[in-house]
Amino acid sequence: MGQRIDVGILGATGVVGQQLVALLADHPWFRVTWLAASERSAGHRYGDLAWRLPSRQPADVAALRVSPLEAVADAPSLLFSALDASVAGEAEVAFAASGRHVVSNARNHRMDPLVPLLIPEVNPDHLSLLDQQRRVRGWTGSLVTNPNCATVVIAMVLAALRQFQPERVVVTTLQALSGAGYPGVPSLDALANVIPYIGGGEEEKIETETLKLLGRFENGAVRNADFVVSAHTNRVAVPDGHTAIMSFELATQPSIEDVSAALAAFSAEPQERRLPTAPAQPIVLHTAQDRPQPRLDVAFGGGMPVHCGRVRRCPVLGYKLVAMGHNVIRGAAGAALLNAELMEARSRAAGGKANRETEPVASAGGIQTHQV
Ligand code: NAP
Repeated sequence: MGQRIDVGILGATGVVGQQLVALLADHPWFRVTWLAASERSAGHRYGDLAWRLPSRQPADVAALRVSPLEAVADAPSLLFSALDASVAGEAEVAFAASGRHVVSNARNHRMDPLVPLLIPEVNPDHLSLLDQQRRVRGWTGSLVTNPNCATVVIAMVLAALRQFQPERVVVTTLQALSGAGYPGVPSLDALANVIPYIGGGEEEKIETETLKLLGRFENGAVRNADFVVSAHTNRVAVPDGHTAIMSFELATQPSIEDVSAALAAFSAEPQERRLPTAPAQPIVLHTAQDRPQPRLDVAFGGGMPVHCGRVRRCPVLGYKLVAMGHNVIRGAAGAALLNAELMEARSRAAGGKANRETEPVASAGGIQTHQV
């Protein structure tokens, strides 16, 4: 094996932070050496804090002491951020300004025109925004974000159908409890219930982030896609896995068979590059009428594929289907990891040349590596 890059996790104690720790255990390229969280956790040994995943906590990470967010100078060059939105905004900027490359789950900077909102299968070309970001902001580091956990599912489907020119999209989500973080929704609200509202601007995030993701990178900026999305979001008593029930118009009016074939055949740069976290098939198309289901399908492929089924005619908008994806993995921790892997792979492919677009992960500037 080669050298592994030291990475840190901001918000390492939450739902997404813990999943990042789990996904990074034995990662071929990255190794967790630094953790940060709130004052409640800072100073504690990570292994002494609550661990809420069924997998065993990696022993080397358990031994790390959690830092406060202020310990910017101690952080390694590559940071995954799973911070609560109340603190992510300022903290991520401080780390990026200090030369760290921040790959974030938080919503704060997603719609910033100088920040790539990235799904490697959907818009890898948006990474070129980093040139502008460094120039305009004067940061020696960088900031890249992944979308809202339900948006990832919806954008993957629409990206696979881009050739048919989506026009109007109506989506109703059934979102898992883990999407609200820990401790999340009180059990007396959640059990045997559907809550027809998710705070934090969930519907607006789906309606706007999808257009940026499917937008074109032109003349140094992202031009949003020009279709419209209407979202209804609901919290349901499912542990993991967001379901998106979608109806949509396609300008070119393909057959249902063509739509199904395009979903099943969807493949992109992460698959070509065989990134460590990339699913072999980004979209798994189900033919059984009662699939996808979160309980049966969410863990397939390590939680990285998006599942689609029930592709059929819609009498109002032309087409409808059901999509589902793991909100904490494909929608958060795995999404950030895949983003970092894409940047690292591009950097390696550039062969150490000064490539400002791909510099973020393997920049010459102070990356700490370990032989493993
Ligand atoms: P969470 O379980 O509530 O975890 C939040 C993390 O932020 C914890 O590590 C917490 O540390 C830290 N934090 C909170 N207040 C802080 C402060 N004042 N200073 C420093 N650290 C602080 O939330 P989550 O579900 O993991 O979500 C993390 C981020 O990812 C959020 O921005 C969320 O919107 C986004 N996201 C979540 C999902 C999902 O499915 N859960 C999907 C996509 C995106 P302590 O433990 O020390 O309090």
